[in-house]
Amino acid sequence: MIRKILIPIDVAADDLGREAMALAKELAANHYAKLVLLTVRETMPGYVSIHMPEGLEEKMAAAVSDRLNEIAEKNGMPDSTEKLVRNGNPAAEILEVAEETDADMIVISSHDPGVADYFIGSVAARVVRHAHCSVLVVR
Ligand code: ADP
Repeated sequence: MIRKILIPIDVAADDLGREAMALAKELAANHYAKLVLLTVRETMPGYVSIHMPEGLEEKMAAAVSDRLNEIAEKNGMPDSTEKLVRNGNPAAEILEVAEETDADMIVISSHDPGVADYFIGSVAARVVRHAHCSVLVVR
């Protein structure tokens, strides 16, 4: 039984997540599962952030949140989809949120192996290796 599905989305490369969202939606409909969309803002080094104009950090955070809502809408995610924005390292945050939200499954995209010589990208590989729940890698 799948009750909660976590879909990590890189808002800068959301095309990659299209298939993941479509599949997760289908799974959720079949299992009456809840959906959680997560995007992680990578932490800026201190030597960069101290030079940022006041208020810029808040504006950037709001822009990422708006973009995630836009992506959810564009991909027809149900209104009940929970949307989360976290700061930090993408793989580490995805793993942490999976625990916190008690996700049964993570649906994550990975680079097409034809695009580069990757078998699997680094974020997806870390998630597959360390997650305590099932992980579906979408290509
Ligand atoms: P990379 O080679 O860049 O590590 P992968 O192919 O391993 O990329 O994984 C890409 C997937 O990882 C994305 O489609 C998305 O699901 C997830 N991901 C990458 N960065 C982020 C991020 N900042 N926030 C949320 N998910 C992310």
